[in-house]
Amino acid sequence: MEFSLFDKEKKIVEKAEQLIAKEECDPEEIRDFLAVFIDAFRRCYQEQKCLIRISDRLQEQLLETKKELLIKTDQLKKQAADLKALNENLALEIAARKRIEEKLRIMADRDALTKVYNRRRFLEFLEMEVKKVKRTGKVPSFIMLDIDKFKNVNDQFGHAVGDQVLCHFTTVVLSGIREIDVFGRLGGEEFGVILPETSKKKAFIVAERLRSMVESSEIILSTGNINITVSIGVAELEAGESGEQLMVRADAAMYVAKQNGRNRVEIA
Ligand code: GH3
Ligand code: MG
Ligand code: MG
Repeated sequence: MEFSLFDKEKKIVEKAEQLIAKEECDPEEIRDFLAVFIDAFRRCYQEQKCLIRISDRLQEQLLETKKELLIKTDQLKKQAADLKALNENLALEIAARKRIEEKLRIMADRDALTKVYNRRRFLEFLEMEVKKVKRTGKVPSFIMLDIDKFKNVNDQFGHAVGDQVLCHFTTVVLSGIREIDVFGRLGGEEFGVILPETSKKKAFIVAERLRSMVESSEIILSTGNINITVSIGVAELEAGESGEQLMVRADAAMYVAKQNGRNRVEIA
């Protein structure tokens, strides 16, 4: 037998219908039924009141939860906005740091006065170039440059003018070499150029051009113009030779140029 939730109520309704359908009713039976009916009605009424109270409470709780949710949403929105601002600041900070890093890297690689590669970085390039030969089989040449009688410039015009002359010199040399050539300051008034994949014959032509450019360029000062010359040694990398050895040979050739009267190019 199946029982539904409203079995009791169904039975009371059926009983009422039976009573109404009867031609003659026993008042006793009607009274008994009414007592059952009133009792059922009262229970029903109380249940309803109880349900309404539960429903009211639930609604209150719902409103409360909704309010809390709104507050939480607002807080979350604020947190998201704060986070966005923080991220933007972080991005700016990272960009600034990258710029500083880049500047530091340039500073670490360059000579402070002339801004050409410093000795350390230049020697790194030289070693790289020597290693590359194993792969390509194409040898580089090295040009060693030393400004002639540079001490006289300092003595005559002062150290500040000497600095100016060094900067002028690097500008002239840079304008006379290719983009793939590496130019660096080895110290004082001594400079080097690495010419990748270049024979000593071709390097000599470049060196001669640089010598001539330096000789003919004038440094214009308010007190009068200065002319300088440069002595140059050229060497081509030999089989099994290190960058250091190549440089020593170019330096020796440069020394020969000094001995032979300066403002000259000599090949090792
Ligand atoms: P040489 O023809 O034999 O090379 O003679 P030089 O006078 O050029 O050679 P020396 O080695 O006698 O003198 C080099 C001078 O370069 C001495 C030094 O004071 C100067 N010098 C080195 N570095 C700098 C610099 O950064 N600025 C200035 N103004 N002078 C420098
Ligand atoms: Mg010199
Ligand atoms: Mg010198």
